[in-house]
Amino acid sequence: MILILLGPPGSGKGTQARMLMDQYKIPQISTGDILRKEIAAGSKLGKEAKVLMNQGKLVPDSTIMSIIEQRIVQPDCKQGFIFDGFPRTIAQAESLGKLLKKKNLQLTRVLNFMVRDSVVVQRIAGRRTCLKCHAIFHVVANPPKQANLCNSCSSSLVQRDDEKEDVVRQRLQEYQQKTAPLIAYYRQQKLLSDIDAEQAIPTIANQLVLLLRR
Ligand code: AMP
Repeated sequence: MILILLGPPGSGKGTQARMLMDQYKIPQISTGDILRKEIAAGSKLGKEAKVLMNQGKLVPDSTIMSIIEQRIVQPDCKQGFIFDGFPRTIAQAESLGKLLKKKNLQLTRVLNFMVRDSVVVQRIAGRRTCLKCHAIFHVVANPPKQANLCNSCSSSLVQRDDEKEDVVRQRLQEYQQKTAPLIAYYRQQKLLSDIDAEQAIPTIANQLVLLLRR
């Protein structure tokens, strides 16, 4: 199974990707998480990406495609994978199409997480991310059992630099301009399913399981 989770920042893609990963035993591939790891490691790629990410701008397509090419050939990807935050431009989607074709693989479904901008801003302001395992919580909607500590690994939870309101607004603008055209692109290929991402987390999770069973 190869899934794409499409949607603006704060649409709940990451949370649902983790649930699907547990359910189907296939890895979540989050280009955002991979880039944040590079930043933490202080690599050249990380340094270049950090400047763009902290401005809410996209990282170049060529950088992202080389990350993806290396990631999907790892042994844990044999049964499939869940893309979270990739592709984000038509050029990335086209490159992905060619890459999958070359490997004789087929995209199963693209899940389009729909949510209003006002809801996104509200959600992201309360978001806290685990420094170690990248699990995501929300101070109101999905609080950790112990304040500021991850449920899974007990590490500290932090607010990311790119979760400040002005950066979130810039990320939403990038989404509208560069990523939203993918909705029509995949709808035309009859691969798209719309998800009302303003519903509760478990409601969406149930819907996804039913949808993918079909
Ligand atoms: P995310 O955690 O998916 O919201 O990604 C955080 C940031 O990483 C984005 O705002 C971009 O700067 C960068 N990024 C992540 N994935 C991509 C991608 N597929 N294409 C370009 N930039 C990306």
